[in-house]
Amino acid sequence: ATARFAARHPRSATRLREAQRAMPGGNTRSVLFYPPFPVVMARGDGCRLWDVDGHGYLDALGEFTAGLYGHSNPIIRGAIEAALRHGLSLSAHNEHEPLLALEVQRRFPSMELLRFTNSGTEANLLALAAAWVHTGRRRIMVFDGAYHGGVLSFTAAAMPLNVPHEFVRAPYNDLAAARALALGHADGLAAILVEPMQGSGGCIPGEPDFLHGLRALADDCGALLVFDEVMTSRLAFGGRQGALGITPDLTTLGKYFGGGLSFGAFGGRGDVMERFDPRRPDALAHAGTFNNNVLSMAAGYAGLARVLTADAISGLNLRGELLRERLNGLFARRGVALHCSGMGSLMNLHAVAGPVRTRADLQGEDARAKTLLFFELLERGVYIAHRGLMALSLPWGDSEVDELVSAVDAAVARHEAVLP
Ligand code: PMP
Repeated sequence: ATARFAARHPRSATRLREAQRAMPGGNTRSVLFYPPFPVVMARGDGCRLWDVDGHGYLDALGEFTAGLYGHSNPIIRGAIEAALRHGLSLSAHNEHEPLLALEVQRRFPSMELLRFTNSGTEANLLALAAAWVHTGRRRIMVFDGAYHGGVLSFTAAAMPLNVPHEFVRAPYNDLAAARALALGHADGLAAILVEPMQGSGGCIPGEPDFLHGLRALADDCGALLVFDEVMTSRLAFGGRQGALGITPDLTTLGKYFGGGLSFGAFGGRGDVMERFDPRRPDALAHAGTFNNNVLSMAAGYAGLARVLTADAISGLNLRGELLRERLNGLFARRGVALHCSGMGSLMNLHAVAGPVRTRADLQGEDARAKTLLFFELLERGVYIAHRGLMALSLPWGDSEVDELVSAVDAAVARHEAVLP
């Protein structure tokens, strides 16, 4: 399959060779690389992509969830074009940022006060800093398989380049273990940082009892509960916290919230966040040239206020549930050890029989089978992440679900004999 890929993508190969003259491996975003070389995309429209060799794809990756609106949504484009006409960087407060902040707060009432950043990574770093200052403690509980950004990574992937925090690592979806670990640290935790569904870790939903239990655990040990909803905010109008009725002390957001442009936000309890109020003599300084950049603020607000209604969110999640059911039905019928995990519009293909409740269920995953499926889908005009992540976008309709299921079925049929 990789030989056929190489033969069909000569321009992608050339582009990578050029890129390698200036960037290590020709890459500036590790997750996008796979051998023999990654596909180079030229343009997108709706939920379609075209690569530099002219092949078209159904976009089932949706920019690792930041592409929720699809490519070139006319409302978001209009907002960006209107903002552009007034100048890009105004060196000042602008009228877009409070609109977006209020809209975020309307959806996430636990965010009594919030601030913007450029990325989800930064949002998490600042939430942790806020927790240190508030509690006077340094230790942070995180979970195996978690991903909170390029410098806050606990997945099995390549060697992490983590900032030197004092982390305590607990197994995900194992409340008893988390409780034992937390209570074993006499000088206490500053925060428990958790994804309500592990995204990069393989779309593993946090079980409701586990997440409710972490709320109680944080209270018991005087730590702040930080929900990283960078990926999961799209799973309900008020994110997973809204759906579960859990009020975290702090929340971090990112991805599609900036309308497809760089974005991050952190916020929560007023008494924690007001330390950032610059009128205070002991204010925490949180600077960042692009924190309130006009384009992200304007695009983010237009998307939330005019596109991403509660109905749009639940419609897309229903479509995702249906797709996942059909894929798992197909795998069972064909008798192959493949499984699609996830919730709503977010999912991940795994080369294991499933179900996937913890990382232990991914042990012994057949990496070759997964790679084979990836290249087979590319050849059939379907683009997913090399690691199996899929994120639906709003332009998806019933026919896109059919298209993806047919492509997966054909790919599996071709290789039934070698699949686990
Ligand atoms: N948290 C989670 C749960 C994420 O999935 C990601 C990105 N994949 C981040 C944080 C980091 O966001 P960014 O890439 O914008 O820094």
